[in-house]
Amino acid sequence: MRFEELTSPEVDLLDRDATVLVLPLGSVEQHGRHMPLGTDTMLAHAVSLAAADQAGDAVVLPPPWYGFSAHHMRFAGSVTLRAETLMAMIEDIVGSLVQHGFRRILIVNGHGGNGGVIDVLASTLGHRHYGRARIAALTYFQLARAAIATLRQSEPGGMGHACEFETAMVQHIRPELVKIERAATTYPDPGSRYLTTDLLGGSAIRTYHDFGDLSPTGTLGDPSLATPEKGKAFFDAVAGELAAFIGDFRGWSIPEQAP
Ligand SMILES: [Zn+2]
Repeated sequence: MRFEELTSPEVDLLDRDATVLVLPLGSVEQHGRHMPLGTDTMLAHAVSLAAADQAGDAVVLPPPWYGFSAHHMRFAGSVTLRAETLMAMIEDIVGSLVQHGFRRILIVNGHGGNGGVIDVLASTLGHRHYGRARIAALTYFQLARAAIATLRQSEPGGMGHACEFETAMVQHIRPELVKIERAATTYPDPGSRYLTTDLLGGSAIRTYHDFGDLSPTGTLGDPSLATPEKGKAFFDAVAGELAAFIGDFRGWSIPEQAP
């Protein structure tokens, strides 16, 4: 169910406790020479719609297109919000939904650069709306990391940005938008054994990496390993993991509000 296609009376009929409202987040930024700027938002939205459909009793909000993409600004077409702007926008969206009585709001992020912001939001909004609503935030490819790890063919570094994973995913949902003949492979050198650019890498260190320093084409990883069939396998895996989480989240307790 798409929130923006409902009428106000239809929203009013939704079960405020059982319904999980899903807010997809992504970015508008360069995705190499072969992938569209809107990749992250398109993928987060598509995965959210498929998962909501599987889980039932979940409604997907229209995603705001933009995210935090400062590290992509050396490449034409990238648009970044300030982290404060992104936070303020999500605070207002979630605040509106809580005002209407909704009690389970899930942020489904599809862009690594938004990670710090959604971590802060999960804590600050969770505190602000304590007793009224539960707020959860996740990055969908991290939720499904085990499944993705079994499906991938690339070495570490082969999945980072406009890579084996993202290219295959867009080849599955919007094949006409992938210009695979223009794709370039880059295994970037992050400059320290403590750092990684891999989507599933998980470094303990937080630092700023300008993507122009990591890759001349903006691609981190190996898009040559992508196929639409692999994209379908990735997509079904991540949507399945997200549907399972939505089902679990629906059962989370909501503490009584302090008097
Ligand atoms: Zn991306």
